[in-house]
Amino acid sequence: MCFNCAIMNADIVNICMNFTVLSLFPEMFESFQRDSIVGRAVKEEKINFELMNIRDFGIGKHRQVDDTPYGGGEGMLMMCEPLFTAFENVECKTKNVNKRRIIYMTPQGESFTQQKAAELAEYDELVILCGRYEGVDQRVRDELIDEEISIGDYVLTGGEIPAMVVMDSVIRLLPGVLGKEGSHVNDSFSEAFDGKREHPHYTKPADFNGMKVPDVLLSGNHAEIEKWRRENLR
Ligand code: SAM
Repeated sequence: MCFNCAIMNADIVNICMNFTVLSLFPEMFESFQRDSIVGRAVKEEKINFELMNIRDFGIGKHRQVDDTPYGGGEGMLMMCEPLFTAFENVECKTKNVNKRRIIYMTPQGESFTQQKAAELAEYDELVILCGRYEGVDQRVRDELIDEEISIGDYVLTGGEIPAMVVMDSVIRLLPGVLGKEGSHVNDSFSEAFDGKREHPHYTKPADFNGMKVPDVLLSGNHAEIEKWRRENLR
């Protein structure tokens, strides 16, 4: 990783994590960073987003960001120059490179898991590059990226939704982000569930059109309820 970003360390006194996203469609993140739990975390300054439009670093008057691949073939590739320039303009919030992770979203990356989300939640800063077209020039990947992540074995049109998947799963693990502190501890894949998927849940009414809630959950017997829940982990 060779980019020299400007350090803005003073900005993050109370921020748990800073996210910088490089994308050709930064407007896709507007609702994501505004609404629901993520929006509240932004308002409470637990997290901070910097959205960078790669087009701003495009070449020439047309702000070119892509070109045809050497060797031929269909589709376009995102070029080195706009991406290297964009990375030079990333305003890093931490001086410590060990507290920062630079990620490229790609179907060729390592499959994303809850364990990876927990690992990423330990960093102070994530910088995420979203690809478009056929992806990015390999030299960008070789020189600028710490880690490549795939959200699954299928191909989307761009890295924006994958970046949101990764950020959402990381953000909800950060201290104080979920309303009830620690409420991610009993989620699917957690240690508490031996890595298994969560048991079924029911809420009122106890009888909905003849579909009944299991008696044990209405019994008030906490030991039996806990036993039933463990037996019904999936
Ligand atoms: N040519 C690439 C390939 O076959 O692996 C696919 C490129 S895809 C059309 C464009 C961009 O979408 C990728 O550069 C990546 O950023 C993003 N993308 C698509 N599917 C993804 C996935 N499953 N996980 C992560 N990113 C993905």
